[in-house]
Amino acid sequence: MTANILIVEDEEPLTELLRYNLEAEGYGVDAVARGDDAETRLRETAPDLLVLDWMLPGLSGIELCRRLRARPQTQGLPIIMLTARGEESERVRGLATGADDYIVKPFSVPELLARIRALLRRASPERVATLLMIGDLELDREKKRVSRTGRPVELGPTEFRLLEFLMERPGRVFSREQLLDGVWGSDVYIDERTVDVHVGRLRKALNRGQGTDPIRTVRGAGYALDDRFGKAS
Ligand code: CA
Repeated sequence: MTANILIVEDEEPLTELLRYNLEAEGYGVDAVARGDDAETRLRETAPDLLVLDWMLPGLSGIELCRRLRARPQTQGLPIIMLTARGEESERVRGLATGADDYIVKPFSVPELLARIRALLRRASPERVATLLMIGDLELDREKKRVSRTGRPVELGPTEFRLLEFLMERPGRVFSREQLLDGVWGSDVYIDERTVDVHVGRLRKALNRGQGTDPIRTVRGAGYALDDRFGKAS
């Protein structure tokens, strides 16, 4: 399972240790040392998990966590908080409202890796499946086939990747910038309106002769695959 992890930590040796071990596990790793820089970075990219230090220059980890939870794009982002010994108890209980998990420094790397794996599995079991199914929509990653109510849906390669990306993270809202980064890759420069064009094509292909639109447009925020789509109301 490949996932992108953002490390927000101001102790460089620790960042490098984590980067080395996470990359060895096959994760994509990005790191920033300041809380305010992390906030900026998270508006541009959509990692699958955040390893967030508590004490940071610029903006504290807990404040960043609070802000992330307030934005639809990052509301469901899995967060593991790193705290120093002595910052636990009351304060940790406070952060438990925002972070999914926390680990006290100094910690063992295997322990953190295990927590990351567990959290990723819990947050998105879809990431490990070959067959993604939501409502009447089915996507086979190996055969590269999509069907709706059992009928094949013809998609171009970009629309396929876009649908796969959204189906892996149902309910989460992605900005155009985050979709560009996640589907096209961060090295490519493409106009954000390109995203609208491909979402439009994807919609057209999926909704042919069907009623409900599985893709939700969130005004001012972006797009999401409706996680309630297909469920009996
Ligand atoms: Ca720190």
